Amino acid sequence: MRISLLATGGTISTQRGADGATPALGAQALAAAARAGGADLVVTARDVLRLSSRNVTPAAMWDLACAVEEEIQGGAEGVVITHGTDTLEETAYALALLVRTSVPVVATGAMRVPGSAGEDGPANLAAAIAVAATPRFAAYGPVVVHQDEIHLARWAAKVHGTRVAAFGSPAAGPAGLVVEGRALSFFGPPPSERLLRACAPDKRVELIWAVAGSDGLMVDAIRDRVDGLVVAGLGGGHVPAPLAEALVRAAGAGVAVVLASRCASPQVLRDTYGGAGGERHLLASGLVSAGALSPVKARLRLLFGLSAGFTAAELFAAEA
Ligand code: ASP
Repeated sequence: MRISLLATGGTISTQRGADGATPALGAQALAAAARAGGADLVVTARDVLRLSSRNVTPAAMWDLACAVEEEIQGGAEGVVITHGTDTLEETAYALALLVRTSVPVVATGAMRVPGSAGEDGPANLAAAIAVAATPRFAAYGPVVVHQDEIHLARWAAKVHGTRVAAFGSPAAGPAGLVVEGRALSFFGPPPSERLLRACAPDKRVELIWAVAGSDGLMVDAIRDRVDGLVVAGLGGGHVPAPLAEALVRAAGAGVAVVLASRCASPQVLRDTYGGAGGERHLLASGLVSAGALSPVKARLRLLFGLSAGFTAAELFAAEA
């Protein structure tokens, strides 16, 4: 079986220098550290990026999606991506939107710099390869494997800034577990996330966070410079009344405005709260609900979807 390992940087690839840890190791070195491969498993190594994941852009996600497709077309029976953990959930979700996963596609990373006591990179990579070598995981779309847990791209989130157990799926729980090198699933494959027409991102979509006392300052300032806007609303999808007025002005001016929830387990309501800034007002005034999708993932869906020619209503019809 041939597994393709694509390296993009992140802590898993770092070496310490005078300036702190920075990405340095390529895919070949990572495969060697994880003792990847064996009698019936060939791991081929390819370097795609060498970045801290804070510098991974949507355009880089598109390039990575193309590289994954190339590997699959070239005969890879599973694909593993090593990536920084800071934006890992975003890249995994972008791949869910962009890649036809006819084989398992697995993203992983590490929290501890290689060479540290208890470094987690080799074990995470070995677990990721085990999932990638399990054909039935193709149907789950791209997944994040971290600390032996398997998380769907839709739900995966970095839930801790420093601990090794940094990933979770707060809204849904993990989809499976790697045990003794075997990838086990807790439930069947989810519905597909794939867009109908994938293409490089060429729109500007921003994300703003609603907090107590937010007004329209930021929305009014950027309204003419964006194609889309996601607001991470309070609770079930609410914003302070002055911010609501600005969001409705933006939607009226033709900006695609999507309403998400900033809660760790988000869910935008439809029909409970009245008054300015309640979800009933916002959804009746041109905003589109992100449903249970996190704000950062709603932003990617809107960005790649608008770039592909879809409207916000089309993109989020299944979410609301
Ligand atoms: N700063 C790193 C990155 O995201 C953190 C990590 O990989 O854990 O690239």
